[in-house]
Amino acid sequence: MKTKIICTLGPASSNAESIDKLIRAGVKVFRVNFSHGSVEENAGKLKLIKKLGGSTMADLPGPKLRVENFQGVLETGKTVLSSRLSIPKLKKGERVFLSDGLIELQVLNDRECVVLRGGEVRSGMGINIPSLNRLKSPTEKDLRIAKRIGGFSDFLALSYTQSRDSIRELRKVYAGNIVAKIETRNGVENLSEIISEADLVMIARGDLGVQLPFEQTPLIQKKIIAACEEQSKTAIVATQMLESMTKESFPTRAEVTDVANAVLDGADALLLSEETAIGVNPENAVKTMRTIIQATQSSIKERTFKSSNISQSIGESSKNISESIKARAILTKTRSGKTALTISRYKSQTPIIALTSSEKTFNKLLLAWNVTPVKVKSMEVLPLKDLFSKGDVVVLTYGSSLDTDSIKVIKV
Ligand code: PGA
Ligand code: MN
Repeated sequence: MKTKIICTLGPASSNAESIDKLIRAGVKVFRVNFSHGSVEENAGKLKLIKKLGGSTMADLPGPKLRVENFQGVLETGKTVLSSRLSIPKLKKGERVFLSDGLIELQVLNDRECVVLRGGEVRSGMGINIPSLNRLKSPTEKDLRIAKRIGGFSDFLALSYTQSRDSIRELRKVYAGNIVAKIETRNGVENLSEIISEADLVMIARGDLGVQLPFEQTPLIQKKIIAACEEQSKTAIVATQMLESMTKESFPTRAEVTDVANAVLDGADALLLSEETAIGVNPENAVKTMRTIIQATQSSIKERTFKSSNISQSIGESSKNISESIKARAILTKTRSGKTALTISRYKSQTPIIALTSSEKTFNKLLLAWNVTPVKVKSMEVLPLKDLFSKGDVVVLTYGSSLDTDSIKVIKV
């Protein structure tokens, strides 16, 4: 698959047998959501994934408010005590959303809200208050979790990323790949500086679709992916991609189209959430996503960019050469992953094989569009025989000093 799949583990899939099946179905990275369960329990899941050969993404809870000690049904038109739902003091008239927007309340006064759209509420459900946009991220708890599990988490996803400073603060305690989750107005406003500071970016449509008017989500998705391509960063589209498959064994046509459109928008990776965490058949959800990706990925339009430095020019030229001589692949030696990402952003169909000796870079490139990372002990010897057949023509990019500065065409 050129477009990669990430899946969330939960009660339906947090066991060795499921993880094994999901890896074979094509999952590259497993997300463990630290908003649910204890830190130790989640740490155990991360270790299990590593043991089975998967890559791990720990998703930090962030400053999102959650309902505590409540179980019941809110009826439309009735009033409810704000404190019962753990809703903080807000101004009269403000809107509050529960369950990613399914339930909507409006503040009546200091103590009460009126239910505009009712539904069933239980403890742990997220609370969204669009007017509370500037919540601090990372929280003290996020930083504590990062220190505890950073050593066996290949990626950390930072919920409610506000600005480049959010990422810099997390980087002080974590050396792996940081995924900036864009899910607030502030995050969208500071998009460019966030992309430049982060290793990867997630379009977190669940929160985004209530923090901002939901009708803005489709264009924000396209805008973020295009901005990531511009900066050669990896973009992940998340949430409700095959939502109905949490309960059903067949997707809706709207979902099939949403997945296909995310592929055509140029997303590097797509994330499954409840479908694989609490769904009836996690493996079926992954296989369904794979089928849609495979039917769509070769129809992505190639991109054009204006190269403005050596590494970009090398990326563009290697892509052009590989197409004109119909090369089997582009083989790129990369330390930080930058060269591979710079080639990947053109969305050319020629496979990109990235040789790297860095564990961090290997993991990052697992999620990059049409890139297959290969871990090597030394970058001095090319494992050509392991990767290609005799007679294959391959475009190689490499560097004599620190940066990539050379292109060579080789016949295996
Ligand atoms: P979450 O993030 O599942 O951790 O809330 C993704 C989203 O908001 O879409
Ligand atoms: Mn979210």
